[in-house]
Amino acid sequence: MEIISGKDLAKEKRAYMAEQVVKINAEYGRVPHLVVILVGDDPGSVSYVKGKAKACDEIGIKNTTVLYDTSVSEEELLNKIDELNKDDLVDGILVQLPLPKHISKDKVIEKILPEKDVDGFHPRNVAALYLKKEGTIPCTPKGIIELLDSANIEIEGKRAVVIGRSDIVGMPVSKLLLDRNATVTITHSRTKDLASVTKEADILVAAIGKANFVTANMVKEGAVVIDVGVNRNLETGKLCGDVFFDDVKDKVSYITKVPGGVGPMTITCLMENTIECFLKRAKK
Ligand code: NAP
Repeated sequence: MEIISGKDLAKEKRAYMAEQVVKINAEYGRVPHLVVILVGDDPGSVSYVKGKAKACDEIGIKNTTVLYDTSVSEEELLNKIDELNKDDLVDGILVQLPLPKHISKDKVIEKILPEKDVDGFHPRNVAALYLKKEGTIPCTPKGIIELLDSANIEIEGKRAVVIGRSDIVGMPVSKLLLDRNATVTITHSRTKDLASVTKEADILVAAIGKANFVTANMVKEGAVVIDVGVNRNLETGKLCGDVFFDDVKDKVSYITKVPGGVGPMTITCLMENTIECFLKRAKK
């Protein structure tokens, strides 16, 4: 069994991007600028936003965090996005989710200019992915493909099973795997006899949000397993994935760990998307 380390790959990619940003600065006279909007002080969101700021600093991307109290109105937030859309010195805009109930997530996402939508959540970017047009690919699915590629895992012709059908992970990663000519099955909470489906997978992607859900009896001998889940183990208090690592580790050929797997690659792909958004606008 080999571990595909997202931590190591992220380190490598970030070093490359740091050099890229130096060159960008020399050529265009400024570095890419990412603006992250955080509403409220949910500990999970605060920690994600800090992780994003740290990655920006590491790479040399300019990073601004705009903080709002949970009482901020939808209108005020939309006006801020409008202002950032019009600001030529802003390349990427990200609104940290979830948002308070009185603010429409859809309205907020749709307000961000698709060219500055570094998360790839705007309907135009979602459509671009499904229609194979140019657009921004969401960070976590993009990171998963990069992890597979880093370990030279062949995707074409393989049977891939994705557990989960969310807009941010399950669906887009399924499309990316399909585009790489895997035969893809998408499973979800209504799938009957899930184990019989997951056992067919050469590549199994778990994006469920349930601690240690995937056990050895659900995995084929020699499978490649990508664990997207980020859960808190209630007994140990530690972070854990959707895959019961110790149970499946002797059965798989490759596996990612939590933490240190998909997570670092999500933030790294956000950095990549910010640089891509900068370059696309700069070249226009
Ligand atoms: P989500 O929106 O809650 O979607 C979970 C999916 O899992 C749903 O499609 C759901 O099916 C399915 N599911 C739930 N119970 C199931 C069951 N018993 N059997 C089969 N399928 C089941 O979650 P998400 O946003 O995709 O995130 C999934 C996990 O990945 C979470 O732990 C999240 O924290 C983590 N995550 C990590 C990163 C990272 O960078 N590492 C990024 C994003 C998310 P239905 O559609 O039928 O409800």
